[in-house]
Amino acid sequence: GRDSVADLARLVQDIAAEMAEAGERGEVASYIPPLSRIDPRQFGLCVAAADGSLHAAGASEEPFSIQSISKVFALTQALGKVGDTLWRRVGREPSGTPFNSIVQLEREQGIPRNPFINAGALVVCDINLAGHEPRVAIGELLRFMRYLADDDGIIIDEAVARAEQATGFRNIALANYMKAFGNIRHAPELTLGVYFHQCAIAMSCRQLARAGRYLMHGGLYEPGGPRVIPAQRARRINALMLTCGHYDASGDFAFRVGLPGKSGVGGGILAIAPGQAAIAVWSPGLDANGNSLLGTLALERLAEATGWSVFSPD
Ligand code: GLN
Repeated sequence: GRDSVADLARLVQDIAAEMAEAGERGEVASYIPPLSRIDPRQFGLCVAAADGSLHAAGASEEPFSIQSISKVFALTQALGKVGDTLWRRVGREPSGTPFNSIVQLEREQGIPRNPFINAGALVVCDINLAGHEPRVAIGELLRFMRYLADDDGIIIDEAVARAEQATGFRNIALANYMKAFGNIRHAPELTLGVYFHQCAIAMSCRQLARAGRYLMHGGLYEPGGPRVIPAQRARRINALMLTCGHYDASGDFAFRVGLPGKSGVGGGILAIAPGQAAIAVWSPGLDANGNSLLGTLALERLAEATGWSVFSPD
């Protein structure tokens, strides 16, 4: 096992160097101008290790649009509000469909398969909106993420939020469709406003890796630190990330990397090695399923070299 701090620092550098040379980088998301303009040659990696050390390489300080990675933190927030009653409105099974698919909702009475496809995330936003103005609900999420990352520099990119709103016809359809089943409780445009703004949160790999630490530490902020969520809840969120975090490519991600992970169409991935590390990687070029091509490859290399796969015997 390659687990000394010096080895880890070196490994992170080596992986970033390999990714800088990569030929195939995938396609940058093109559905909104602020994302289509991003330079596909960028790559950033940050590993927050269990001992508190941070190991970063490449463009690890560059903020990017976290997009669907926000669904992990919004789910954490919603479970804190309503606990397991959330599961009356959202399932826990991989969908086998793309992130924005509507097809399963008709047969399944407006109950989304899981909280990480868009339909499920919209229900989570609807839960977080209860008793609040949209701007208060999103402010609460932003405050939570700043606390987790210990960084007040995390912001919402308003240009991205506006573009999401202007082009989000599938999400608008999903919210309205679930509203017809009674599984969206607010006016759909309010719930959608929360969703579009959480997708537009901008963070660097460094900020994101730090924000994910509670999921490596069984729900603690850090070892010996305050409890963010119960240990059982952290295990369950990790389980959902493993089974559903990459949509219809979740099986392939588990096969190649073997870690709970959540991707975003901005090219970021948050991966958790329980007890070992919280890892954020960013490379804006996407594969055919809308997941970061080099981000996945980098995590595959990291998991292979460290033995961090949850399926490893040690
Ligand atoms: N804003 C995107 C959408 O709702 C987020 C999707 C993603 O990151 N996979 O379509």
